Amino acid sequence: MKYKLENTYLKKIGNIADENNFKVFVVGGYVRDFIIGISDKDIDLMILGDGIKFAEIVANKYNKSLDAVYKNFETALLNIEDHQIEFASARKESYERGSRKPHVESADLNEDLSRRDFTINAMAIGINKDNFGILYDEYKGFEDIQNKIIKTPLDPEKTFDDDPLRIMRAIRFASKLNFKIEEKTFEAIKKMRKRLTEDKVVSQERITKEFLQILMTDKPSVGLELLYKTGVMDIIFPEISALEGVEQRKDFHHKDVFYHTLMVVDNISRKSDNLWLRFAALVHDIAKPATKKFIEGTGWTFHGHEELGARMMKKIFIKLKLPMSNLEYVEKLVRLHLRPIPLAKEEVKDSAFRRLAADAGEDLVDLLTLCRADITSKNTEKVSKFMNNYEIVEKKILEVQEKDELRNFQSPVRGDEIREICGLKPGREVGMIKHKIEEAILEGEIKNDYDEAKEYLYKIKAELLNIRSET
Ligand code: ATP
Ligand code: MG
Repeated sequence: MKYKLENTYLKKIGNIADENNFKVFVVGGYVRDFIIGISDKDIDLMILGDGIKFAEIVANKYNKSLDAVYKNFETALLNIEDHQIEFASARKESYERGSRKPHVESADLNEDLSRRDFTINAMAIGINKDNFGILYDEYKGFEDIQNKIIKTPLDPEKTFDDDPLRIMRAIRFASKLNFKIEEKTFEAIKKMRKRLTEDKVVSQERITKEFLQILMTDKPSVGLELLYKTGVMDIIFPEISALEGVEQRKDFHHKDVFYHTLMVVDNISRKSDNLWLRFAALVHDIAKPATKKFIEGTGWTFHGHEELGARMMKKIFIKLKLPMSNLEYVEKLVRLHLRPIPLAKEEVKDSAFRRLAADAGEDLVDLLTLCRADITSKNTEKVSKFMNNYEIVEKKILEVQEKDELRNFQSPVRGDEIREICGLKPGREVGMIKHKIEEAILEGEIKNDYDEAKEYLYKIKAELLNIRSET
């Protein structure tokens, strides 16, 4: 099979290889994506011989210097415009138990391909003049792409034992490409899964990075279900696998909490590429197992799961080493995810909308996106009724918000001024007064306006001083 590689870098680098007597192949993810029909800005090159030396020659030709050199792995990195080119000497790897850093030896083309994680990642295409566009496919990766199969080129157990991160990669590729994991590979994942967290062979950061990449695929439920079915979820995120089998009220949900959650994550992923919104969808019901109670006549209840769920987040963020800057956002969405539901009724007062708008602040739109994704009923009548309710809630909130300008809400009279007017030192009292002003605005007693707030402050100051003089 001969392919037409259009990429101008590959042509130019191929010429440089000919001029300098190097044999060079494009390999790995680039070839996989090329065959699938996805264009890739990451180019992995394999060089027979000294890959770093060749990388230097190429960098020179482009009047650039290498962006990174890893002598131990015989690899080098060169960024040209928006392309990231990795040069690697063809190599064999042998692993010592307890480390995923292999001992590296130079090798030929097929030996290099055999050390790669999956057959779909173990193909090469020649870029020298005499073999430009020719596919080298010792492990039948092409066929596996056609059949949508993830499988290891060599013995899967050994492959995962050598580098357990490949377990996460298998599931990520399955989710990203919507491929099946071949049975023997699947069984090996199940068997070797504990290696992921054993002996600190794989860092938490790498596991988390793969996990978040799974969450960023078009249909994350594919990967999340595989994580669950292989038992990997139990090891890396047990709070999520605990959702499986947690029954819910049949009149609202036809699935257990785990499968409901998968649907919510898929729903939200169709609407948003915001990783943390997707993460919030994943964890929105995380405290359901802990709050589950059967009440005669009502069925299963989960009172307070939104608050407990929000409180569980910090520990989870720490354990998964997630960036703490996103903690507050996720906590907020989990905490508020039920709040819009009762607001669709006719008799709801403006103050309820004001409060939600104030609590959600800038994240109101995301909260409503989460609420909509949370509707997973099979009953189309119910779905359209619930959707319509959120339509109403959103409209009303926007109306109230427009009226009050409540985004990023806080008292229009600030702490400094409160202290000055009331003759107070910094401390709890100032905060209490500020809170009182905010409450008055939320309740609609005064407008969200500086003059009205100041007038109100003078009024409560008098009350405050009266109380003081009485005591
Ligand atoms: P993507 O860039 O979309 O994550 P990729 O397949 O290009 O996918 P990279 O991490 O860029 O992944 O690696 C490039 C190639 O190196 C892979 O296609 C694979 O052949 C090989 N490779 C990467 N990581 C491993 C690993 N842990 N074990 C074995 N081979 C690997
Ligand atoms: Mg890549």
